[in-house]
Amino acid sequence: MAERATRSSEAGRPAEQSATLNALTIDVEDYFQVSALAPYIDRRTWDRVECRVEANVDRILTLLGERDVKATFFTLGWIAERYPSMVRRIVGRGHELASHGYGHQRVSELSPTQFREDVTRAKRILEAAGGCRVVGYRAPSFSIGTANLWALDVLAETGHRYSSSIYPIRHDHYGMPDAPRFAHRLANGLLEVPMTTLRVMNRNLPSSGGGYFRLLPYATSRWMLRRVNRRDHHPAVFYFHPWEIDPAQPRIDGVDLKTRFRHYLNLGRMEVRLRRLLHDFQWGRMDAIFGADNASALPS
Ligand SMILES: [Zn+2]
Repeated sequence: MAERATRSSEAGRPAEQSATLNALTIDVEDYFQVSALAPYIDRRTWDRVECRVEANVDRILTLLGERDVKATFFTLGWIAERYPSMVRRIVGRGHELASHGYGHQRVSELSPTQFREDVTRAKRILEAAGGCRVVGYRAPSFSIGTANLWALDVLAETGHRYSSSIYPIRHDHYGMPDAPRFAHRLANGLLEVPMTTLRVMNRNLPSSGGGYFRLLPYATSRWMLRRVNRRDHHPAVFYFHPWEIDPAQPRIDGVDLKTRFRHYLNLGRMEVRLRRLLHDFQWGRMDAIFGADNASALPS
């Protein structure tokens, strides 16, 4: 019954659409910069590989524009350096520009000094390209956890107001299963907004998008997000990448079976699923939803 009500409702908010404003986030990197593919592509060759990020971001901007949805774009400094006009288009359409670091190295592979250099460099490049202040940061591959919580102090010290870097799950590449599940302010003043999980039988299940959104049936993803909104009474944080809507991206040679499965699964279904997601939930920018938006303009 409820499903039919959702489907038949048109123009404006569907009857079953959740009232909660959820955060829509895009991690702006290209297909060859994904951490899992790092063993197969030397980062020194990045400038010689076909870039597809700009065309894919433009498709995303169109998709969001159709529903007048505002989102947060966690963008690599490396990308902003090469595509400043794309960054200006993101900002010009009313989206939040945030940082994904400079070169997509996992924080767990950097020293505190290297991390400080990476986030400072990314913030400077993004702010110059976008003409706006950048206050948000997301670690590549959610690579902040128990072993490197010092990174959250570095973020506060370098002018970031929030981080969305911790995934409170167990995963072979990342995760901090005992971390708080929802946004919380740290002693250093930084707000950490963890990736969304669903609590089931004393375990946290990943419910924040990414590869799981392509792996699971859409109805399952929708059910999980609705549970978070309605049972936990919290906004969800959803993320995806520009390369996930690009089934025609060049295939990388020699990739192991598991990584290949995770990266290429259901790319062709992604855009349709995203459209449904935009229809079924209300979406907004991280800074607006979590109250970090009081410094959006750079002083002139
Ligand atoms: Zn990333």
